[in-house]
Amino acid sequence: MGRFFRALKSGVEAMGEAPEGDRYVVAEKGVTCAHCGHDRFVEGRAQLNTAGLTFLNLDWANRSAATLACTACGRIEWFLSDPQEV
Ligand SMILES: [Zn+2]
Repeated sequence: MGRFFRALKSGVEAMGEAPEGDRYVVAEKGVTCAHCGHDRFVEGRAQLNTAGLTFLNLDWANRSAATLACTACGRIEWFLSDPQEV
């Protein structure tokens, strides 16, 4: 799945045995994986201040996005607002 995913996976593995993950809420709604329906994720951050995203007129948003990686299938959900851990 490419270098980014492998880097993320190795980072997750470096934290120990397969993480259970945590539940998160965004905009008062529980986050579930769009692919497998799992509800536990590992949170991360990704910088948005690249030339490409400035071109897409995302200057109004935070300069970093929250990423939630599904601990069941590895799908990454992106949020411009900070997910709340529950
Ligand atoms: Zn999933």
